[in-house]
Amino acid sequence: MVTIKKLNDDGFGVVGRVLVPFSAPGDEVLIENVDKRKKTRIATKWKLLRSSPIRVGARCKVFGKCGGCTLQHLDYSYQITFKEEKLEKILGISVKVIPSPRIFGHRNRIDLAVTVEGIGFRERGKWWKVVDIDECPVFGKTSKKAIKRLREFIEEENISVWNIRQDSGFMRYMVLREGKFTGEVMVNLVTKEGTLPNPQGYFDFATSIYWSINRSKSDVSYGDVERFWGKEYIMEELDGVKYLIHPNSFFQTNSYQAVNLVKFVASYVEGDRILDMYAGVGTFGIYIAKKGAKVTGFDSNEFAIEMARKNSALNNVDAEFFVGTDRDVEISGYDTVIVDPPRAGLHPKLIKRLNERGPEYIVYVSCNPKTFHQNIVELNNYRIEEIIGLDMFPHTPHVELVAKLRRL
Ligand code: SAH
Repeated sequence: MVTIKKLNDDGFGVVGRVLVPFSAPGDEVLIENVDKRKKTRIATKWKLLRSSPIRVGARCKVFGKCGGCTLQHLDYSYQITFKEEKLEKILGISVKVIPSPRIFGHRNRIDLAVTVEGIGFRERGKWWKVVDIDECPVFGKTSKKAIKRLREFIEEENISVWNIRQDSGFMRYMVLREGKFTGEVMVNLVTKEGTLPNPQGYFDFATSIYWSINRSKSDVSYGDVERFWGKEYIMEELDGVKYLIHPNSFFQTNSYQAVNLVKFVASYVEGDRILDMYAGVGTFGIYIAKKGAKVTGFDSNEFAIEMARKNSALNNVDAEFFVGTDRDVEISGYDTVIVDPPRAGLHPKLIKRLNERGPEYIVYVSCNPKTFHQNIVELNNYRIEEIIGLDMFPHTPHVELVAKLRRL
C-alpha cells in the first residue's frame, strides 16, 4: 500500500516513478499493474484502499474510464488550488485562478465518436476504445436527448457506424454545440462518403442540423459540409455581444467562463487602436470594439476570418479582420496588441518584432503556461503588469492565462 503524494502537471497522482490516473493526493492505493513499456510508468490497475478527504463523488457514471475528464473526483476548490500551484511552479510567481461559474453543463461543444462499441469519448490513452455514454454532464442535459435520438436514428434507418480498428463504417462522429445563453443547438453528423437518411425528424430539438463528409484518411470530427437543415449558424451571446457558430469554426468552449475571459481581456487593454492577433472568429476584438475601440484582427485561417467579419457586421462594430500570419503581420501603430496563440506559443519572428517596435501594451491570452513562460522570457522588452488564471476547463488539468505586459 502506498500514498499518493501529489499530482503532476497533467493531473496524474505520483508515487515514486509511477503515475496513477484518477487518483487524489492523500489516497492510499494498492497498485496491481503498471504499464512499463513506455518511459512514463502508468498504473493500469489499482485499488483505492483509503480515500483522501479531497475526494468527492464524481457526478459522471463513466468517470475513471472515459478520457474526457480526469479530475472530476477532486473537490472543485482543490482543482483550483492544483491549478494555482501548477502555475506557480511553471511561472515562478503566484497567480490567482478564477473558478468557472459553472462546473457542469458549462461546455458548449462535445465531439462524440459513433462506433460499434458505443457512442462517447475515448478511454484514457486508447484511441481504439470508446466508452459508451447516455449523457455527458459537462455538456448538460441536451446531450442526453441528442444521444438517445442518435441511437434511434441509427437503428431505425439502419445506419452503419464506425469500427475503429477496421476503419470501416459510415457514421463517425456527432458533434454537439449549444449556445448556453441563447439555447440554440447544433448537431453535426460527420460521416464517410455515402448517403445519409433525412435526420430532421430525429433531431427536432436542434436549431441547426449538419451533415459533413470527412474525405480525408485522418480521424477528425469535421468534414466538408454536404448539406444542412434549419439555420446555417447557431448563435452564442457573451455579455451582450453576439457570435455565430458554424460546424467548422472554433469558439471558446466554456461559455460561462468565456464571459469572464472577454471581460479580463477588455480590462487589460489600453488605448483605442487595438490589434487582435490570432483573432479566430473575433471573440476578443469584437467585444472590445463594442466598448468603443477601433480593432484590426488577423488570423491565418481564412474561414475564421470570414466568420469574424460576419460577427463584426452582426454587432455593428468598428472591427476589421484580415487573413495574415504571425510571421508577417505589421504590428506598429497600435496602443495594445492582443495575442492568443495556439499551444505552441508565439512565432519567433513576432517576438522579435514586438521587442523591436511593439506597442506600449500586450495582452497575452494563453492556453499553455509552458510556452507562455518561454515567450515572456523572450519578450525581454516587456514585463508583466497584471496576470490572472481562468479555469475554462473544470475537471481537466488545463488552465487559461491572461496577462497584461508593459514595455520597459
Ligand atoms: N482568439 C480566438 C481564437 C484563438 S485560437 C478566440 O478567442 O476565438 C488560436 C488561433 O490562432 C486560431 O484561430 C488559429 O487559426 C490561429 N493561428 C494558428 N497559427 C497561426 C499563425 N501562424 N498565424 C496567425 N494565426 C494563426
